[in-house]
Amino acid sequence: MNIRVDLHKCIYCGGCVGVCPVDAMSLDETRIVINDKCINCNLCVKFCPVGALKAEG
Ligand code: SF4
Ligand code: SF4
Repeated sequence: MNIRVDLHKCIYCGGCVGVCPVDAMSLDETRIVINDKCINCNLCVKFCPVGALKAEG
């Protein structure tokens, strides 16, 4: 399973980066990057205020 970012919805608030318990997310200049530390806890999906994150697998 992977977390996908909908780049059309994301407003780059950076909140998901702070909520991730394993530092799997980072905000670069143009988008959210999710690395392989992700444990699919879905906290970021629940947190995102605009529904830009989705678990896909
Ligand atoms: S699903 Fe959990 S571990 Fe993966 S990026 Fe989101 S908050 Fe981090
Ligand atoms: S919480 Fe949602 S809107 Fe905010 S940076 Fe993350 S994906 Fe984008």
